[in-house]
Amino acid sequence: MPSALHQSSRDLAERLDVLAGRCRVVSRTDLSPSLTEIILMGDAVALAGVPGNDVMLLVDEDASPTRRRFSVREVDPEADTLTLWIATNHEGPAARWARSAPEGSEIDVVGPRGKIPLDESADWHLFVGDVSSLAAFYRLAQSIEVPGRAVFIVELDHPDDALTAPFDEGLGVTGIFVDRGGRAHNDPSGLLGGLAAFALPPDEGHAYLFGEFSVMRVIRTALVDRGLDKARISLKAFYRVGEANGANGEPSKENAA
Ligand SMILES: Cc1cc2nc3c(=O)[nH]c(=O)nc-3n(C[C@H](O)[C@H](O)[C@H](O)COP(=O)(O)OP(=O)(O)OC[C@H]3O[C@@H](n4cnc5c(N)ncnc54)[C@H](O)[C@@H]3O)c2cc1C
Repeated sequence: MPSALHQSSRDLAERLDVLAGRCRVVSRTDLSPSLTEIILMGDAVALAGVPGNDVMLLVDEDASPTRRRFSVREVDPEADTLTLWIATNHEGPAARWARSAPEGSEIDVVGPRGKIPLDESADWHLFVGDVSSLAAFYRLAQSIEVPGRAVFIVELDHPDDALTAPFDEGLGVTGIFVDRGGRAHNDPSGLLGGLAAFALPPDEGHAYLFGEFSVMRVIRTALVDRGLDKARISLKAFYRVGEANGANGEPSKENAA
């Protein structure tokens, strides 16, 4: 890999005041029709940060290098590894990398990134998104102190994408998996239907909306209309239908409704 690219990763990390690491792909496993798990080794604890954080990968190093962001699903300090769950249900350089990254290959990783930690003051936590958000949702929910409550409303492209996670005994967990049924990724009707099936509890809650740009905005409006305070909603657009993510690893916010 050209050293100028390494240097650009180091410069980026310096600007963001985080770490630039060179990680090795330890394993690559297709977990479901739409999600691939990649385990990376090297500087794992420092790169992975806290629940809610993500890392920035430099993909397509040889042809057209570009950076993409992925939430950390889990970190194993003893093995020095961090785990990512990457959606492969579309065509893009990161999805292609996830489908084919050889074990033993290396990749530039910048992290930790992200500014949405768990709201520890909340009695219940509502996670709304799609397969791309499962890694972040499960790591956040696994950090909820017992007794607490986690509710997941997640739209799936395929029934076998309904991956689960182990949680502490005593945590109240509700999962509503919504079948996309062939609808476009920017069609909010599936998640709105899932949301309608859930009555907001009367005590204090926090909603985490991670997923498609316009869908997440519609869901935020629906939650505000149902009385949830805006300050108790954390929204992060992960991608935007019809557009590749930008150099900052995020979808553009232009022409937002
Ligand atoms: C903070 C943060 C954390 C993220 N964490 C994760 C994570 O843990 N797992 C994960 O899978 N993704 C995650 N994402 C989303 C991921 O970075 C984007 O999906 C990214 O666009 C993928 O890059 P790509 O090169 O495959 O596709 P791009 O080149 O960006 O896009 C190519 C085309 O594919 C479409 N597209 C991109 N992503 C998707 C998708 N998920 N579903 C349907 N269509 C898509 C685009 O609209 C575009 O038309 C995260 C994003 C952010 C900002």
